[in-house]
Amino acid sequence: MKIKKVVIIGSGTMGSGIAAHLCNANIPVTLLDLKTEISEKARERIHKSRPPLLIDKSKINNINVGNINDDFNAVKDADWVVEAVVERIDIKHNIYEKIFKSRKSGAIVSSNTSSIPIKVLSEKLNDNQKKDFCITHFFNPVRYMGLLEIVKNENNDLDKINSLKKFCEQELGKGAIICNDTPGFLGNRIGVFAMQVAMTEAFKMKLSIEEADAVFGRPMGIPKTGVFGLYDLIGIDLMADVLKSFIKELSKNDPFQLVAKEIPLITKLIQTGYTGRKGKGGFYKMNKKGNQKILEAIDLETGEYAPSNKIDLGIETVNLNSLINRKDKYGEYAWSVISQIIKYASSLVPGITNKFNDIDEAMRLGFNWAQGPFEMLKEIGVNNFFERIDNFKNNEFLENLSKSKDENFYGERQQYTDIETLGKVKPRAIKIDKNSSAEIYRFKDFNIVEFTTKANTLDYNSMDCLKKATDKPLIIINESMQFSAGVNLSYTMNFADKGDFKSIEKFIKYFQETCKHLKYSKYPVISAPSGLSLGGGEEVILQSNFVVSHTNIVMGLVETIVGLVPAGGGCKEVLWRWCQSDEAKKNPDFAPLKVFEIIGYAKTATSPVEAEPLKYLRPEDKKIMNRNSLLAVSKKILDDNKDFKAPKECKFNLSGRALKEKMIKTLEKLYNEKVIADHGVEVGKELANVLSGGDTTIEKTLSEDDLYKLELDSFMRLIETKKTQDRIKHTLATGKPLIN
Ligand code: NAD
Repeated sequence: MKIKKVVIIGSGTMGSGIAAHLCNANIPVTLLDLKTEISEKARERIHKSRPPLLIDKSKINNINVGNINDDFNAVKDADWVVEAVVERIDIKHNIYEKIFKSRKSGAIVSSNTSSIPIKVLSEKLNDNQKKDFCITHFFNPVRYMGLLEIVKNENNDLDKINSLKKFCEQELGKGAIICNDTPGFLGNRIGVFAMQVAMTEAFKMKLSIEEADAVFGRPMGIPKTGVFGLYDLIGIDLMADVLKSFIKELSKNDPFQLVAKEIPLITKLIQTGYTGRKGKGGFYKMNKKGNQKILEAIDLETGEYAPSNKIDLGIETVNLNSLINRKDKYGEYAWSVISQIIKYASSLVPGITNKFNDIDEAMRLGFNWAQGPFEMLKEIGVNNFFERIDNFKNNEFLENLSKSKDENFYGERQQYTDIETLGKVKPRAIKIDKNSSAEIYRFKDFNIVEFTTKANTLDYNSMDCLKKATDKPLIIINESMQFSAGVNLSYTMNFADKGDFKSIEKFIKYFQETCKHLKYSKYPVISAPSGLSLGGGEEVILQSNFVVSHTNIVMGLVETIVGLVPAGGGCKEVLWRWCQSDEAKKNPDFAPLKVFEIIGYAKTATSPVEAEPLKYLRPEDKKIMNRNSLLAVSKKILDDNKDFKAPKECKFNLSGRALKEKMIKTLEKLYNEKVIADHGVEVGKELANVLSGGDTTIEKTLSEDDLYKLELDSFMRLIETKKTQDRIKHTLATGKPLIN
């Protein structure tokens, strides 16, 4: 079965997201709605979406639009028809009748429903039609959420389901998990249950919403929106509808029913328009007082808002045991929530899937959890878990495990895919070194470095692991969402606060030394980024010999935002790349001026297609849709480059002072036009100093070390200024830039 053309019916949130993603995969797609204007609006929305749903915005016209009356003929040519209309069975039934009258024989028809079972959706179809009908449950936003649940039942042609899965995995890059026709499938069944447990326990234990979100968040390996923040993000009214559907579909004695009961405060919030971020606010709301915005949180008992309190549990990385062993209300809450999630998820095996591992992977891919319930059980320890748990009657999985007490019950990860992923390789590799910021694995004849800090920010220890790992070919890759958000700013500020600039200098020098080493060591170094690849993270990528990039990246040298210049070789390397262009050969100032603009404006790319014109990525770097394949593609590069030779060192001829003055003129203009403020000029001047080559002339040849030295000196001068420190502190506190 080949899928060459797709028709999507319904151009709302999901239909447009799926259309955009097919467009990303270069598959021709037609998007139909009740009226052409609706699908045209959807196309405009796709074009303007942020974060962008399209990898390459110039491809927007590859999405054809139309309406279901005049343009239904498109269905005749489609190999796959996706229905993504409103969640109403009568409307869906009418559409299927129409589709099956027109579809070409054997074409797949699927629904994106999140709650209606196949048996209901397909009740009016004949046996032949049922064979080709399934549910393809994409998650929002489609480009960014890894999970696709393909739901089948006994009527399906399994070969066809498998080839659809392959297509979605290989061409669309999705983590496609096949599951049974049960309410909420895997992700929502466990994910929504977990949210409800976290919420009801917070009410019961009288935790504030900030406290609950601080526990049911990063310390548990769950995104920092926690439960109440996530409710606001999804929409409190939408969550109420989701719960209604679970209440209706699940049996009366399903434990889900106990946590899905209506909560008076929630009903009141919905009735008064407090439906979350899209409404007047929700559990949290932003209160504007004059020029100030104050985040407020609701009191679960009184329903009143008060300025939100930041709760710091002092836990940066996931450590379930230290969390549940705490002798305070947070420990008690964490255990209560985690144990109920584990109990519920395990009670559903083999009902909703016979591979418990699929549930964990669905939670990673669909809810961005760092680990699923069964991995949580593994981390807590089987014996430890059974010592604490009260009862687990009628739970076949736990009953069996309580007998075997097998700490190694888990087995292989990511069983839903045949790809040799990092997740599968890690348990088979030897962990040869680790520190607080990174880990080194040896697998066969190469090393893997995985950063392990929050957002994979970099510090001295990260560099230490990278440097040590170059005794073999090296792949820098990670499972967590971000490749690296850049240098750890709080680490740097801790030194600055103490006036210990020597330590900062030592770190930057080590950063440079490491990056140079990555580039010129005897063995090839490959970076395989996904997600944030910013600042120092991008400098590591730039100085790797090969890059295998996921199509979902946010890439850039953004140091000027915090009042610094890239100093790990970022200025040097991007400058070198631009120096190789034809224009640069004709005009020696072309490259530095171009890079001055790129780094000065801290330009970021939201995909490889945007990164290449900035030369953050090169044409020869690999760009792939399926994140799971990053390791396998990197490994293939190592196999193909057994006779690898380190590149030649680069040399620079730069114009020096005259060029710097040109750049300063630009800064003055921007200052007069109020595009930049005082410190913007200072930062710009330092960047100009680096990119013009400092005190040099065009005849003089500069080495990479000369450029590293210029970067370091400028960086140090800037970090010592109060205004750069103010920028860093502001960004650390608010996540936003300070213009000063
Ligand atoms: P939506 O309300 O954003 O869009 C629905 C679209 O269907 C609208 O553009 C509407 O004009 C169109 N439509 C209605 N009747 C139609 C008809 N007869 N013919 C053609 N078009 C018609 O809805 P959505 O959020 O995109 O949800 C679509 C489906 O995806 C639903 O089944 C929903 O349960 C499911 N789903 C939604 C999400 C989500 O996060 N929004 C996630 C997963 C699954």
